[in-house]
Amino acid sequence: MTQAIPRVAPVISDGALDADIHCASCGYNLRGLRPSGRCPECGTPIARSLRGDLLAVSDPNWVARIARGATYAYRGFIALVLLIIAAVIGVGAGLALFGPIGPGDTAVVVLLGGVVAWSLAGFAAMIIGIWWLTTPGPREVVQPEVRRTRTGCRIALLALLGAWLATKLPINHPVYAAVASLSQSVAFAVWAWLFFKMIEHMGSRVPSEEIIKTAKRGRRRLIAFVVLIVLVFSLMITAITVMAVRTAAPTPGAPPFGGGSMGLISAASCLGGLAGLAFLLVASAIEESLRRCRRVFREAAAEAERNWDRIDEMPAPSGSPGVSSEATPPADETA
Ligand SMILES: [Zn+2]
Repeated sequence: MTQAIPRVAPVISDGALDADIHCASCGYNLRGLRPSGRCPECGTPIARSLRGDLLAVSDPNWVARIARGATYAYRGFIALVLLIIAAVIGVGAGLALFGPIGPGDTAVVVLLGGVVAWSLAGFAAMIIGIWWLTTPGPREVVQPEVRRTRTGCRIALLALLGAWLATKLPINHPVYAAVASLSQSVAFAVWAWLFFKMIEHMGSRVPSEEIIKTAKRGRRRLIAFVVLIVLVFSLMITAITVMAVRTAAPTPGAPPFGGGSMGLISAASCLGGLAGLAFLLVASAIEESLRRCRRVFREAAAEAERNWDRIDEMPAPSGSPGVSSEATPPADETA
């Protein structure tokens, strides 16, 4: 569980904050300052930082940025999914209508160019979107675990892009192909894990039960995907080893490609099909997460905008423990 920013009324001693409360705009530690004053670092009224860490009372610029991130990432994701569907239908229809087409045909060149441009645009929207979506909150200086998840999510996304590009290089070696495809699966699994973890954290700051549930479901599906991928690769490696041993020292009556190794390969292909299914289920959880975040964060951004200005009209918090109790959600709301 991540460390929560205090949502209870801060401790006041002699009219000054007696706890580590960080500025909602810049993260500056406001300890020792008066609740009626302003942040010495950025000038934001301190009262704005005494309302907890829900998105609706956070810095509206930051909330708008993560909402925009969810929208871009969602659009990029949909663009890539549409491309895959169009490619499957297009190739089938093309073959049915025109028969086999050569790589030199103008239509093929134009089509391939379009596919590359479309997928690069989808990836670009996805990366920009995830980058904005993972923008650290101003007060997350006190939440190293949340910051690590955000940074990890960004790094894993770049690693995934690199691994995907590596599978497109014209290197025809079975070992290279296996390593590139394994790296792509690993990068995807790490990224998706951190993505769901971050989405769950953000869901707890709305709070939105639907977002938290979707993220948890995504993580369970991801575990199934990883287990299946590990099984497929272990079976394939075992089968290849068995074949290599038999080819090196053939025993009479036992063909190198017969018996056990073929059984292992068919088992691996069955599990590979299941892994593909698990991947689709993970992808659908990513789509659902982004779709829900897009809507919920947009609403939170509008609310944050309204609340941000409203706080100046509220009476400045004064006195001890009960400061700004009407504006601060109770601590147990997020438990
Ligand atoms: Zn500040």
